[in-house]
Amino acid sequence: MGHTAKPTRQNRTITVDFQDETTYFQLLGDTQAFVEFVCAFLLALGFQLLHKASCSEGGCLTRHSHYARVRLGGLTIWRIQCTTCKAVFTVLPHFVLRYRQMRPEVARDALLATHGGLSLEWCAVIGHISPMALYRVICALGQHSLVEVLTRCGLPLPRYILADEKHSRCLTDRVYLPTIVSGRVLWHLGYSHAKSAAAFTASYGQFHQAALTHEPSYQVRGALTDGFDSTVSSMRTLFPGARLGLCLRHALNKLPDKLIGVSASVRQGLRSTFHALLHRCRQRTSLRVVSLGQRLRRFADHITTTVGPDHGERVRSWFQAKKAGWYTVLADPQMPAMSTVLDQAHNTIDRKLFAMKGFHHPGGSQAAFLTGLAHLYNLIPYQRRALHAGQCGVEVEGGRVPTSDWMLNLQILTSGGYQCAPAPPHH
Ligand SMILES: [Zn+2]
Repeated sequence: MGHTAKPTRQNRTITVDFQDETTYFQLLGDTQAFVEFVCAFLLALGFQLLHKASCSEGGCLTRHSHYARVRLGGLTIWRIQCTTCKAVFTVLPHFVLRYRQMRPEVARDALLATHGGLSLEWCAVIGHISPMALYRVICALGQHSLVEVLTRCGLPLPRYILADEKHSRCLTDRVYLPTIVSGRVLWHLGYSHAKSAAAFTASYGQFHQAALTHEPSYQVRGALTDGFDSTVSSMRTLFPGARLGLCLRHALNKLPDKLIGVSASVRQGLRSTFHALLHRCRQRTSLRVVSLGQRLRRFADHITTTVGPDHGERVRSWFQAKKAGWYTVLADPQMPAMSTVLDQAHNTIDRKLFAMKGFHHPGGSQAAFLTGLAHLYNLIPYQRRALHAGQCGVEVEGGRVPTSDWMLNLQILTSGGYQCAPAPPHH
């Protein structure tokens, strides 16, 4: 339950942007021009076709290919076979969704409404489609891993990550969404029924495996967590060389809990002092760690003198347990210090989970559905801030998207027939 069904046959569909339908129908009658158009498109994308492992052809469509025109639901499409490895590529024009009758422009509106937080039912009403059809489109997108799609956009695998789990519900069951974020991009959005370290390691391990497939020497240098045991232990298991930091904002929010019985205004004042303390340490360019140790000791003494030795002692032992994780954040300037972007991602996904509540069933594809939603999160442009307005998360992080149209990008990037050209040796 909750796992993606593996496709039995390798999906070698390629979505090609023919600009408009007329161009496509004109090209259908001219083999030479058709193949040249597809080649030019491949070249512009910088992608290669996914031949079978044994094949030496690679690259663009070659002379060694068979071309066949077939009818698909009333539409003529091309199938291209590599004569060396016999891999068959289906060339899907941009105005068709794979295996779906739904037109891309209908899916575009419904997906945007889903991304905006509208329930599947209401999205379906807007698009005059069935909610289940929309659910299936999202699951189909989610058959492609986030790592696969993001690396196609030229994003390097993240060296520093935020890892945290969202606690949610599937009908009456508690479920967990182990998540990995780097900057504005979701690299993993898993689904787990258990909160054990083993279950979380299995989920985060899917990201690790996909990353290793892309880059066999991949290593995480630093991971920031909120300190949840299963997440921390998953990180230790999967990325033994990584520095593990604890979120500083989480620390700030926890301080008042250590001061039970103290008046709200005093607790608030101490939280502000703690905030200033952490902030000053981060501002320092050197000896941040030494500075933190001294400041924490003085702050615990301050609590003892202002609200009593019991509180001082409780805070001191809490510091003792957590300070290694805070040191880690301060010791490496590249470490993320706060999990704010991850919380934002979770809040966005949470609305969708609520929206899908009518779609939970034992045979459901929760993992695929969530991955589909994560693709939307990464690829739909956002307008909230003037800085980066109109850019999607992938672009904000420095990635390239194939076209200026997010829906077309989604279609192209989740086409199974493409593979990344080898990365240029730029570093
Ligand atoms: Zn081949």
